[in-house]
Amino acid sequence: MSIVKAKDLTFEYIRRDEEGNVDGITTAIDNVSLDIKEGQFIAILGHNGSGKSTFAKHINAILHPTEGTVWVDGMDTSDDANVWNIRHEAGMVFQNPDNQIIGQVVEEDVGFGPENMGVPTEEIWQRVEESLKAVGMYEYRKKSPNRLSGGQKQRVSIAGVLAMHPKCIVFDEPTAMLDPNGRKEVIRAARALNDVEGITVILITHYMEEIIHADKVFVMDKGKIAMEGTPREVFSKVDELKALRLDVPQVTLLAYELKKRGVNLPDGILTKEELVKALGL
Ligand code: ADP
Ligand code: MG
Repeated sequence: MSIVKAKDLTFEYIRRDEEGNVDGITTAIDNVSLDIKEGQFIAILGHNGSGKSTFAKHINAILHPTEGTVWVDGMDTSDDANVWNIRHEAGMVFQNPDNQIIGQVVEEDVGFGPENMGVPTEEIWQRVEESLKAVGMYEYRKKSPNRLSGGQKQRVSIAGVLAMHPKCIVFDEPTAMLDPNGRKEVIRAARALNDVEGITVILITHYMEEIIHADKVFVMDKGKIAMEGTPREVFSKVDELKALRLDVPQVTLLAYELKKRGVNLPDGILTKEELVKALGL
């Protein structure tokens, strides 16, 4: 079952001058078709300006296609009648947790989403508890979000999305502002939502290490899908990735260099453990 499907999606940002005349057009998405199945963990990679955020905003019906169609759980995002349902099914987590947290107390913040949806009070509390437990933040429920670390804040924003019981969560560079520990916490939480709760996760990131567990990776470049495949397939193509100005994980690069120098290794090594094993050490 498709949870997100795009067919021939093109999106143009149109700039206008003071008189309203068209001043310039940026084609941010250029004829993209893709199909994401319910329950998948999808990663989207790409250099700055490749169109990742613009695509993410289509999944949440913040932006509508200039051409083509996007469906979320079968609902056409261009149909205004679907927007309410689409926003409940597809949640978004953004880069900066400070812009997403509005409550004075953690549990209150997590409750805002379901409250706005009109969920009965008793059920709100139940959802807040479940969601905070799912991201490992339950013990902080009475705390002020201001006192939390970046990774903890981001997990609170994830709980806030989770409390709306979405089928799909789009993470748009959720770790870009975090330190390495915070990054690990957030990725662990995202993986747990996918593994344990079966929620479809679409993770947009710059960090290669964060995507090695993805079911499928899409690499975007200039508004198009330049590569797609499993992490192993994508990381086997070191030269193509470099041409797209993307780094590969250090271990993968090391394995690739060793292989070029004649060491017998399989393509697309993703972890230290795999490399050690492949070297027979
Ligand atoms: P990414 O998230 O991969 O960095 P974006 O989707 O933000 O890429 O941007 C894709 C292209 O669209 C870029 O060329 C960017 O400059 C342009 N763009 C993004 N947002 C706007 C906007 N609000 N108005 C005009 N152009 C935009
Ligand atoms: Mg972006």
